[in-house]
Order: sequence, then C-alpha cells, then structure tokens
Amino acid sequence: MAYFNISFDNASVAIVTGGESGIGRATAIKLGRAGVPVVLGYLSDSVAANEAASTIVDGGGKAAAVRADVSDEQAVEALFHFAEQRFGKVDLLVNSAGLNMSGVMLRDMALAQFDRMIRVDLYGPFLSCRRMVRALESAGRGGRIVNVSSIHERAPRPGGADYDAAKGGLAQLTATLALELAPKHIAVNGIAPGMILTPMNQSALDNPQELQRKEAAIPWGRAGMPEEVADLILFLLSPTADYITGTTVTIDGALSLTAAQGA
Ligand code: NAD
Repeated sequence: MAYFNISFDNASVAIVTGGESGIGRATAIKLGRAGVPVVLGYLSDSVAANEAASTIVDGGGKAAAVRADVSDEQAVEALFHFAEQRFGKVDLLVNSAGLNMSGVMLRDMALAQFDRMIRVDLYGPFLSCRRMVRALESAGRGGRIVNVSSIHERAPRPGGADYDAAKGGLAQLTATLALELAPKHIAVNGIAPGMILTPMNQSALDNPQELQRKEAAIPWGRAGMPEEVADLILFLLSPTADYITGTTVTIDGALSLTAAQGA
C-alpha cells in the first residue's frame, strides 16, 4: 500500500557518485525512473556505468555517465561542470562512492592506506558537497544532499580504523554542513546502512556459509538490498522530506543496536 508519493520537482537534476555499482547504481536508476535527470559518477567500470545510464534512458529518463575519481578536486569540478552543461544545474547530490575497510590493525596500517581511505570516503564528499553548494548559493537555489555513511561511523571494528574514522568524520561533515546551509534551504543528511548485498560484500555473496553466519547476527534476520537503501535516499532527496536536515538515518535491521550486547 503506497501512502505517500515520492515525487520530484520537475527541474531537479542529480549527481550520484559511485553510480556504477551497488547503492549508487540502484539510487541512480530509481531517480532516473522518477523523472530526475542523473549524472552517474564512476571510477573505473565504464561499461557498468554506461549500462546503468542506458537503463534510465531506455525507460524514458535522462542520464549520462562520467568518469570521476571523487578524491580528485579537478575530477569533481569536471563532473559538476558536465552535469551543469548537459542539464542546466545540480540540486540533488548523493555521495555513494566509497572504499571498504582494509581489515588491517592500526599498528600495521601504512600511512598510504589510511590516506587513501580518508581521501575517498571523506575528502570525496567534502569536495562534491563544496562544489555543489558554491553553485547553489551563487544561484540562490536550495537543494538536497545525501551522504552515504555507515553504521560504522559510530560502531567501531578492529581492523576498521581507516573506514570507521572516515565515516565518523563524514557524520560531522554532514551535521556541520546542514547547520551552515539550513538558512539557504540546502538540506544535508546522512544514511548509515548496515550489511547491504552489494559488491562491497562480495565475499558473503560468493560464500553461502559466510552469508548465513553474518545474517544470523542481524536481528531482522537478513542483509539489506541496495534498492531498499535507494528508496530511503530518494525519500531524503525528495520535497516530502523538506524539514529533515542534519541527521543520519540508520538502515540496518537493528544490527547496530546489538553493539553492546552479550557481556
Ligand atoms: P560498491 O563497492 O558496490 O560501490 C562503491 C562504489 O564506489 C563503486 O562504484 C566504486 O567504483 C566507487 N568508488 C570507489 N572509490 C572511488 C573513487 N575514488 N572515486 C569514485 N568512485 C569510487 O559498494 P556499495 O555498498 O554500493 O557502497 C556504497 C556506499 O555505501 C559506500 O560509501 C559504502 O561505504 C557505503 N556502505 C555500504 C555498506 C554495505 O554493506 N554494502 C554498508 C554501509 C555503508
């Protein structure tokens, strides 16, 4: 039963980073189907990115894929410039591009590993939020941003110092930016997924025993799907969520609530 509609302003245009895979891909396709022109930023898999864009176009939507390493300031500039040239502006942004935790204990972690993670998972959203906000503010327009964080922004794991620190920083980036931008009606929210079945969990997808063991730890009894996360992102991007800003919404089947159990 649908009890409210997620629909978008006719003039809205979106950028989705990490658009060739997982949560970003599912979000881009749903936005495109909702009538929002979408530019998918991708890192390396041009075939997958163009296939996702074609899925949108074949369904009557507007989309294009652009290679952009989110940790590279010039590449982020080029991504936004492309979207503005092609579709006129960008007022919706989803920062989904990200790397997973290394699994390396801090004492053994190379500075280059930590640096790479912070550059992708934290500098990336910083650069794209900043670029979008500069354009919106100079045009006097509002907009909406969703930063894809993780339950590990608050729930640490041994071997996750790189990822957990990046996502923890992202939570504060999201909150601070929301406060700065509320008077301009630019909303900034985060989402904190638990275990979602995307290539980031490829080993569980490839190994039924691992999947079963991990899903047994989730109170809801299963991992989430990227389309479910995409639905939450679309809601937070939509005018229906107008009064929501500065928060991070957890989507994890209650996994994060088990953090302090068992002892
Ligand atoms: P995914 O591996 O399918 O997608 C990640 C995407 O980020 C890929 O398309 C990859 O190419 C892209 N990427 C990586 N480095 C990049 C860079 N430097 N520049 C541009 N793009 C880059 O995984 P996913 O699950 O869809 O992950 C999306 C987001 O969700 C990530 O930020 C991740 O941390 C977060 N997340 C995922 C899960 C999960 O269980 N899958 C849980 C919590 C949070």
